[in-house]
Amino acid sequence: MKHTKKYIQTCLKELEKYTQKTNPFTRLVFSEEFIKARSWLKKEFKNLNLNIKYDYAGNLFGVYKSKLKTNKKILIGSHLDTVKSGGRYDGIAGIVSSLAILKYFVENKINLPFDVELYDYLGEELNEWGTSCIGTRGMTGLLDKKILNRVNSDGKLLKDEIDRCGGNSSKLGKKFNFFKDVIACFELHIEQGVRLEQNKTDIGIVNSIPSISRHKLNIFGKASHSGTTLMNNRRDALVAASKLIIFINELAKKISNKDNRHFVATVGKIDVGPNAATIIPSEVELTIDLRVVSKTSRNEFLTKLNKEIKSLNTKFKIEFHEIAFSPYTEMDKKLNSLLKLSAKKENISFISLDSGAGHDTAHLSRVSPASMIFIPCKNGLSHCPEEYTKISDIIKGTKVIKRSIMELASNKKYY
Ligand SMILES: [Zn+2]
Repeated sequence: MKHTKKYIQTCLKELEKYTQKTNPFTRLVFSEEFIKARSWLKKEFKNLNLNIKYDYAGNLFGVYKSKLKTNKKILIGSHLDTVKSGGRYDGIAGIVSSLAILKYFVENKINLPFDVELYDYLGEELNEWGTSCIGTRGMTGLLDKKILNRVNSDGKLLKDEIDRCGGNSSKLGKKFNFFKDVIACFELHIEQGVRLEQNKTDIGIVNSIPSISRHKLNIFGKASHSGTTLMNNRRDALVAASKLIIFINELAKKISNKDNRHFVATVGKIDVGPNAATIIPSEVELTIDLRVVSKTSRNEFLTKLNKEIKSLNTKFKIEFHEIAFSPYTEMDKKLNSLLKLSAKKENISFISLDSGAGHDTAHLSRVSPASMIFIPCKNGLSHCPEEYTKISDIIKGTKVIKRSIMELASNKKYY
């Protein structure tokens, strides 16, 4: 793959330009920066002579056509959008690596018995409309009217934004029927963790993407004067919430220590009411983010947390409910064997691991053979401006996916 390093470097530098100047490297979905980055991607598609398309869900993709008359296809790609103050590699590494693969096919006039489609899946990151993976949810029939009619803080409807980005939201609501022709979906992504770095391994082949759920915990105490209410007469909702936060953390540690699969629980958001220095807090809302592979561990966590909540219920009214859930998904086993074989042939070291984060491939894997590989990122840092991945690592991952596509092409049993 001659000139690949320079090409990837140039792509990364270009994409870096389309971020908020005052808040690097922000490129929120639907923003001005996002639209500019997509224009750049379209230009790259054009340079590579790809057919440029949009689907109903507002995904942008470029098609490397097979010379054969076929509907069969392979999907590669990732996402261009970032979180606020996000990095330069999350999602982007997968896009530029896919560009490098198609550039290789074009320059070497590689004939494939199927099309290869390079996707920028629309809006993978959690957004103001309270949903992530807009594009892949749309493709797989998960964007219903209720979600499409959500508004953001500016009063903009999600469906209008999808339409503005090339989509046709009125056609969404069911799974795209082309999935019957999809042979494989591959995504390269930065690990966003330290396992590869610690293991000194080139790539991670993903076994599964955990179930991800969010839960709201509302604790109601009693507001009163902070100067006159004696310590024994208080029903301080924030003190109760603090105990619960510590309980959640310790319980999650205990469960994750005995579970050899991925298990993490986080309280990352707290709202306190009335939130004033002179008033005892009467109301606290905690949001718990729970990511789990094992169902047993998930049940154990929820049962023990419910028990703890009950024990506090004598003094405080506490409500606990789930607000979002995406199920555990496994990557395709045959594709994973193929990725391993390709890594071996390319002399690239690998381990198998579970993902801690959600990804577009989780949705794709429910309707199609799909898998993903991780490449290391420095100190595991992600969703921050410091996010960094070596180009040599992107190239290694690129080689593995490129070879897997070639292997699929060379063996009739795959398509
Ligand atoms: Zn990502």
